[in-house]
Amino acid sequence: MDKLEICTLASGSKGNCTYVRYGDTAILIDQGLSLKELRVRANYRGIDLSQTDALFVTHEHSDHVKGVGAFARAYDTPVHIPAACLGNFKTEDGIDRFFVPNEYDGEVTVKGLSVKPFRVPHDAHYTVGYRISTGKEDIAIATDLGFVSDGTLAKLSGCKAVVLESNHDPLMLEGGRYPRLLKARIAGNRGHLSNDACAQTVAALACTGTQKIVLAHLSEENNTPELAFEASRELLARRGVREGDDVLLFVADQFKPSGRITI
Ligand SMILES: [Zn+2]
Ligand SMILES: [Zn+2]
Repeated sequence: MDKLEICTLASGSKGNCTYVRYGDTAILIDQGLSLKELRVRANYRGIDLSQTDALFVTHEHSDHVKGVGAFARAYDTPVHIPAACLGNFKTEDGIDRFFVPNEYDGEVTVKGLSVKPFRVPHDAHYTVGYRISTGKEDIAIATDLGFVSDGTLAKLSGCKAVVLESNHDPLMLEGGRYPRLLKARIAGNRGHLSNDACAQTVAALACTGTQKIVLAHLSEENNTPELAFEASRELLARRGVREGDDVLLFVADQFKPSGRITI
């Protein structure tokens, strides 16, 4: 039987790209790498980019879109993007024809795979996460969000796997060298999710049947993979959920692809 599969090819403020496959259907969420770098990483994991059916964009920040045009041109791939992002997207000549604007966060079906955007609070013009469903099993991706509202939690609930932002350790951010205003922006309701807020969500999701969680979009300046992992592992343990047994946690990397995580 076909299995849903996720691979984070890059995650963080220097570039994001996530590969999702189900049978012969493959999509990318965001493309913030150079085409050359993307190809190296995909090749390393045995991913054939020429088989990509569609690219989905979460928002217009450059770490999510700077390689979108090059990818669409190279592989002649449709780019599904929230319509509200388009005006803020610095388009290169000739790539408009690839865009498929999504007006009201409508569901998109790619060869039987359902891809449904949901809006999240973040300091871009319009930002979405995606819930992807085979009809039997769901996964979700939410990598840039200031907080997890009840509505967002509902969108993530019941997914077998979730890629979720674990951006910063609050103490590292507070004591770090960023200017005060930038710190406030990151920690604010339209900024990025802290390890603690991520851990709360991870613990809540574990109760809804989520088995694999990829901690994503870690700050290089204000976080470490160990701190992100421990924050979620520890809160799970306090709720009686054992990491490595009941739930598996992964930490996505900025510079190298994750394994191909199957559901
Ligand atoms: Zn980002
Ligand atoms: Zn962003």
